[in-house]
Amino acid sequence: MSPAPGETPAGPAADPGPRAHPVGAGTVGEAIRRLAARFAATGLDSPRLDAELLVADAIGADRARLFLSPDRALTAEQAARIADHEDGRAVRRASVAHLLGVRGFRHLDLRVDGRVLVPRPETELLVEVGLELPAGATVVDVGTGSGAIALALEDERPDLVVHATDVSADALDVARRNAEDHGSRVVFHEADLLDGLPPLGRPLAVLSNPPYVPDGDLASLPPEVAGHDPHLALFGGPDGLDVVRRLLPAARARGASLVAVEIGRGQAEATAELARAAGFATTEIRDDLAGIGRVVVGRAGEAA
Ligand code: GLN
Repeated sequence: MSPAPGETPAGPAADPGPRAHPVGAGTVGEAIRRLAARFAATGLDSPRLDAELLVADAIGADRARLFLSPDRALTAEQAARIADHEDGRAVRRASVAHLLGVRGFRHLDLRVDGRVLVPRPETELLVEVGLELPAGATVVDVGTGSGAIALALEDERPDLVVHATDVSADALDVARRNAEDHGSRVVFHEADLLDGLPPLGRPLAVLSNPPYVPDGDLASLPPEVAGHDPHLALFGGPDGLDVVRRLLPAARARGASLVAVEIGRGQAEATAELARAAGFATTEIRDDLAGIGRVVVGRAGEAA
């Protein structure tokens, strides 16, 4: 077939007939197959899922609808976005959440970027502790990052009075955007732990997913974490518990009757002991789905 005047021939000579889409853009199905194969070759954990999420994002559909239109042609713009994210995932090793700038947590979609830790599923355990609080209790989410714990808790328990702190002004920008998106009343404070907060209501609970990764573990973290989550939100000193060690007494000094902190593998017993030493009479360890002691709950004598 010869090109019409003004048109340039494109693609290999054997290419059949007119195209429904620009050269090289391909279809939805082709893109998914290409990305999944490349991600599998890179050794990623969930190559097909990641491929589907990135392609769905580029065409502005949800993942379920991809299966209805595998032959749908991609526009050049969509193909370019996919190619960008393909490299982001395979080469830069950014997580899908970082590439798309959004992560689901409980019932909320939250904006995330390099200024905050991407919320993890296990952190939902802290929200579950918060759901058990008595009506009208006050809660402080210390080191809120994207705002995940505070916003999810307020969303599910509008009777609670929820505050959130972070030492990082950058993180608070992200958290406040998320609060705006969800019409939240969470009160944010730029603060180290609970320093300088105004008087807080009672009963008071302090929930926190602090940095708890031992500094020496950097080399063994997945590239998605080490290269993309802020190190301020990850690392907690030689044994990972530097922040926990300061937080537990600070929570008790503010009159918290309940404290719940997330920690990592092998840290639960030491954390429970720190909680008791700080004046929380009883402690409880809750496991995550992998069976790792993930959250330590401390209760002072009075009702929480
Ligand atoms: N669970 C996170 C990780 O494994 C660490 C989060 C944190 O330090 N709070 O990367």
